[in-house]
Amino acid sequence: MELLIDTHCHSVATGHAYSTIQELAEQAAKKGLEMIAITDHGVAMVDAPHLWHFGNLKVVPREIYGVKILRGVEANIIDMDGNIDMPEEYLRRLDWVIASFHDVCIKPGTIEQHTHAWIKVIENPYVDALGHSGNPVFTYNFDEVLRCVKDFDKLVEINNHSFLVRTGSEINCKIIAQKCKELGVKIVVGSDAHISFDVGKFDKVYQLLEEVGMPEELIMNTSAQKLLDYLKKRKNIII
Ligand SMILES: [Zn+2]
Ligand SMILES: [Zn+2]
Repeated sequence: MELLIDTHCHSVATGHAYSTIQELAEQAAKKGLEMIAITDHGVAMVDAPHLWHFGNLKVVPREIYGVKILRGVEANIIDMDGNIDMPEEYLRRLDWVIASFHDVCIKPGTIEQHTHAWIKVIENPYVDALGHSGNPVFTYNFDEVLRCVKDFDKLVEINNHSFLVRTGSEINCKIIAQKCKELGVKIVVGSDAHISFDVGKFDKVYQLLEEVGMPEELIMNTSAQKLLDYLKKRKNIII
Protein backbone atom coordinates (compact mmCIF):
# COMPACT_ATOMS: atom_id res chain seq x y z
CA MET A 1 0.00 0.00 0.00
CA GLU A 2 1.37 3.37 -1.02
CA LEU A 3 0.09 6.79 0.03
CA LEU A 4 0.17 8.96 -3.10
CA ILE A 5 -1.71 12.03 -1.95
CA ASP A 6 -0.90 14.52 0.78
CA THR A 7 -4.17 16.17 1.80
CA HIS A 8 -2.71 18.65 4.28
CA CYS A 9 0.04 21.12 3.25
CA HIS A 10 0.65 24.71 4.32
CA SER A 11 2.22 27.28 2.01
CA VAL A 12 4.02 30.52 2.79
CA ALA A 13 0.58 32.19 2.81
CA THR A 14 0.41 30.95 6.40
CA GLY A 15 2.85 33.07 8.41
CA HIS A 16 4.46 30.16 10.26
CA ALA A 17 4.98 28.06 7.10
CA TYR A 18 7.92 28.50 4.78
CA SER A 19 7.42 27.19 1.24
CA THR A 20 5.59 28.38 -1.85
CA ILE A 21 2.97 26.25 -3.60
CA GLN A 22 5.51 25.74 -6.38
CA GLU A 23 8.08 24.41 -3.89
CA LEU A 24 5.51 22.12 -2.27
CA ALA A 25 4.59 20.70 -5.68
CA GLU A 26 8.24 20.28 -6.65
CA GLN A 27 8.96 18.17 -3.56
CA ALA A 28 5.74 16.22 -4.06
CA ALA A 29 6.84 15.40 -7.61
CA LYS A 30 10.28 14.30 -6.39
CA LYS A 31 8.62 11.98 -3.91
CA GLY A 32 6.34 10.51 -6.56
CA LEU A 33 3.07 11.88 -5.19
CA GLU A 34 0.09 12.20 -7.54
CA MET A 35 -1.72 15.00 -5.75
CA ILE A 36 -1.41 17.47 -2.88
CA ALA A 37 -3.94 19.74 -1.19
CA ILE A 38 -2.97 23.30 -0.31
CA THR A 39 -4.63 23.86 3.05
CA ASP A 40 -3.58 27.15 4.57
CA HIS A 41 -5.15 28.14 7.87
CA GLY A 42 -8.56 29.76 7.99
CA VAL A 43 -8.73 33.45 8.78
CA ALA A 44 -9.26 33.20 12.56
CA MET A 45 -5.63 32.22 13.10
CA VAL A 46 -3.54 35.30 13.74
CA ASP A 47 -1.02 34.71 10.93
CA ALA A 48 -3.47 33.21 8.44
CA PRO A 49 -3.82 34.59 4.92
CA HIS A 50 -6.53 37.10 4.08
CA LEU A 51 -9.81 35.68 2.77
CA TRP A 52 -8.80 36.84 -0.71
CA HIS A 53 -6.06 34.18 -0.72
CA PHE A 54 -8.80 31.56 -0.82
CA GLY A 55 -10.90 33.51 -3.32
CA ASN A 56 -8.02 33.73 -5.78
CA LEU A 57 -6.79 30.11 -5.60
CA LYS A 58 -8.25 29.68 -9.09
CA VAL A 59 -5.02 31.14 -10.52
CA VAL A 60 -3.06 28.16 -9.16
CA PRO A 61 -2.60 25.62 -11.98
CA ARG A 62 -4.51 22.37 -11.66
CA GLU A 63 -1.25 20.51 -12.11
CA ILE A 64 2.31 21.59 -11.26
CA TYR A 65 5.33 19.39 -12.14
CA GLY A 66 2.81 16.63 -12.89
CA VAL A 67 1.28 16.83 -9.39
CA LYS A 68 -2.43 17.56 -9.19
CA ILE A 69 -3.35 20.42 -6.87
CA LEU A 70 -6.44 20.59 -4.68
CA ARG A 71 -7.43 24.10 -3.65
CA GLY A 72 -8.23 23.89 0.01
CA VAL A 73 -8.29 25.30 3.50
CA GLU A 74 -7.74 24.11 7.04
CA ALA A 75 -10.63 25.99 8.60
CA ASN A 76 -10.69 26.73 12.32
CA ILE A 77 -13.56 25.60 14.51
CA ILE A 78 -14.41 28.81 16.35
CA ASP A 79 -17.16 27.79 18.77
CA MET A 80 -18.68 24.73 20.39
CA ASP A 81 -21.56 24.82 17.91
CA GLY A 82 -19.08 23.77 15.26
CA ASN A 83 -19.02 27.04 13.34
CA ILE A 84 -15.92 27.54 11.21
CA ASP A 85 -14.07 30.70 10.22
CA MET A 86 -14.73 30.65 6.47
CA PRO A 87 -17.80 32.16 4.80
CA GLU A 88 -19.95 29.94 2.64
CA GLU A 89 -19.25 31.87 -0.58
CA TYR A 90 -15.55 31.00 -0.20
CA LEU A 91 -16.06 27.41 0.95
CA ARG A 92 -18.24 26.79 -2.08
CA ARG A 93 -15.31 27.53 -4.42
CA LEU A 94 -12.82 25.19 -2.72
CA ASP A 95 -12.09 21.55 -3.60
CA TRP A 96 -11.09 20.46 -0.16
CA VAL A 97 -12.03 21.61 3.35
CA ILE A 98 -10.48 20.32 6.55
CA ALA A 99 -11.88 21.63 9.84
CA SER A 100 -9.66 21.54 12.94
CA PHE A 101 -9.57 22.60 16.55
CA HIS A 102 -6.58 24.85 17.38
CA ASP A 103 -6.18 26.08 20.94
CA VAL A 104 -5.03 29.49 19.66
CA CYS A 105 -8.48 29.95 18.08
CA ILE A 106 -10.77 28.32 20.63
CA LYS A 107 -10.44 27.49 24.31
CA PRO A 108 -10.74 23.74 24.94
CA GLY A 109 -14.03 22.70 26.56
CA THR A 110 -15.54 19.46 27.82
CA ILE A 111 -15.73 16.11 26.03
CA GLU A 112 -19.47 16.76 25.51
CA GLN A 113 -18.80 20.18 23.97
CA HIS A 114 -16.11 18.83 21.60
CA THR A 115 -18.42 15.97 20.62
CA HIS A 116 -21.27 18.37 19.88
CA ALA A 117 -18.97 20.67 17.90
CA TRP A 118 -17.62 17.80 15.76
CA ILE A 119 -21.14 16.61 14.99
CA LYS A 120 -22.10 20.10 13.81
CA VAL A 121 -18.90 20.28 11.74
CA ILE A 122 -19.73 16.95 10.09
CA GLU A 123 -23.21 18.24 9.25
CA ASN A 124 -21.64 21.22 7.42
CA PRO A 125 -21.92 20.22 3.75
CA TYR A 126 -18.68 22.00 2.79
CA VAL A 127 -16.44 20.17 5.27
CA ASP A 128 -14.72 17.06 3.95
CA ALA A 129 -12.41 15.96 6.74
CA LEU A 130 -11.93 16.25 10.50
CA GLY A 131 -8.38 17.57 11.01
CA HIS A 132 -5.98 16.03 13.56
CA SER A 133 -8.84 14.97 15.84
CA GLY A 134 -6.51 12.78 17.91
CA ASN A 135 -5.35 15.85 19.84
CA PRO A 136 -6.00 14.97 23.52
CA VAL A 137 -6.60 18.64 24.34
CA PHE A 138 -9.87 18.35 22.40
CA THR A 139 -10.91 14.80 23.34
CA TYR A 140 -14.39 13.77 22.21
CA ASN A 141 -16.68 10.77 22.30
CA PHE A 142 -15.06 8.71 19.54
CA ASP A 143 -17.98 6.32 18.98
CA GLU A 144 -20.59 9.03 18.68
CA VAL A 145 -18.56 11.24 16.34
CA LEU A 146 -17.19 8.45 14.15
CA ARG A 147 -20.68 7.00 13.66
CA CYS A 148 -21.77 10.44 12.52
CA VAL A 149 -18.78 10.63 10.13
CA LYS A 150 -19.90 7.30 8.70
CA ASP A 151 -23.54 8.44 8.34
CA PHE A 152 -22.50 11.57 6.44
CA ASP A 153 -19.79 9.74 4.47
CA LYS A 154 -17.14 12.23 5.57
CA LEU A 155 -13.45 11.56 6.27
CA VAL A 156 -11.25 11.41 9.37
CA GLU A 157 -7.70 12.66 9.01
CA ILE A 158 -4.74 10.83 10.50
CA ASN A 159 -2.12 13.55 10.76
CA ASN A 160 1.56 12.58 10.69
CA HIS A 161 2.60 15.87 12.30
CA SER A 162 0.38 15.19 15.37
CA PHE A 163 2.80 12.54 16.58
CA LEU A 164 5.48 15.22 16.90
CA VAL A 165 3.62 18.34 18.03
CA ARG A 166 0.37 17.32 19.69
CA THR A 167 1.52 15.31 22.70
CA GLY A 168 -0.59 12.28 23.46
CA SER A 169 -2.03 12.05 19.94
CA GLU A 170 -0.37 8.71 19.32
CA ILE A 171 -2.71 6.75 21.61
CA ASN A 172 -5.81 8.58 20.44
CA CYS A 173 -4.88 8.20 16.77
CA LYS A 174 -4.54 4.47 17.25
CA ILE A 175 -7.94 4.22 18.95
CA ILE A 176 -9.51 6.39 16.24
CA ALA A 177 -7.92 4.32 13.46
CA GLN A 178 -9.11 1.07 15.08
CA LYS A 179 -12.65 2.41 15.44
CA CYS A 180 -12.63 3.66 11.83
CA LYS A 181 -11.68 0.15 10.75
CA GLU A 182 -14.48 -1.42 12.85
CA LEU A 183 -17.13 1.05 11.69
CA GLY A 184 -15.96 1.24 8.07
CA VAL A 185 -15.15 4.98 8.27
CA LYS A 186 -12.96 6.33 5.48
CA ILE A 187 -9.73 8.08 6.44
CA VAL A 188 -7.26 10.48 4.83
CA VAL A 189 -3.63 10.95 5.69
CA GLY A 190 -1.98 14.35 5.86
CA SER A 191 1.61 15.35 6.57
CA ASP A 192 0.56 18.84 7.79
CA ALA A 193 3.78 20.04 6.14
CA HIS A 194 4.80 23.59 7.01
CA ILE A 195 7.86 23.36 4.73
CA SER A 196 8.23 21.61 1.40
CA PHE A 197 10.65 18.96 2.69
CA ASP A 198 7.88 17.49 4.87
CA VAL A 199 5.40 16.97 2.03
CA GLY A 200 4.47 13.29 1.83
CA LYS A 201 6.13 12.55 5.18
CA PHE A 202 3.96 9.71 6.44
CA ASP A 203 6.41 7.58 8.45
CA LYS A 204 4.37 7.55 11.68
CA VAL A 205 1.11 7.01 9.87
CA TYR A 206 2.41 4.09 7.80
CA GLN A 207 3.43 2.42 11.05
CA LEU A 208 0.06 3.07 12.65
CA LEU A 209 -1.96 1.84 9.67
CA GLU A 210 0.08 -1.32 9.60
CA GLU A 211 -0.37 -1.93 13.32
CA VAL A 212 -4.11 -1.45 13.01
CA GLY A 213 -4.35 -3.44 9.77
CA MET A 214 -6.38 -0.70 8.09
CA PRO A 215 -8.08 -2.01 4.95
CA GLU A 216 -6.88 -0.21 1.81
CA GLU A 217 -10.42 0.55 0.66
CA LEU A 218 -10.87 2.87 3.65
CA ILE A 219 -7.68 4.84 2.93
CA MET A 220 -8.43 7.61 0.43
CA ASN A 221 -4.79 8.53 -0.29
CA THR A 222 -3.88 5.50 -2.37
CA SER A 223 -4.76 7.13 -5.71
CA ALA A 224 -5.71 10.60 -6.91
CA GLN A 225 -8.60 9.13 -8.87
CA LYS A 226 -10.03 7.49 -5.76
CA LEU A 227 -10.13 10.74 -3.78
CA LEU A 228 -11.38 12.76 -6.75
CA ASP A 229 -14.20 10.26 -7.39
CA TYR A 230 -15.20 10.58 -3.75
CA LEU A 231 -15.12 14.41 -3.81
CA LYS A 232 -16.91 14.69 -7.14
CA LYS A 233 -19.99 13.11 -5.61
CA ARG A 234 -20.45 16.32 -3.62
CA LYS A 235 -18.39 18.96 -5.41
CA ASN A 236 -17.89 20.42 -8.82
CA ILE A 237 -14.18 19.71 -9.24
CA ILE A 238 -12.59 19.86 -12.66
CA ILE A 239 -9.16 18.23 -12.58
ZN1 LIG B 1 -3.99 22.19 12.30
ZN1 LIG C 1 -2.26 22.22 9.44
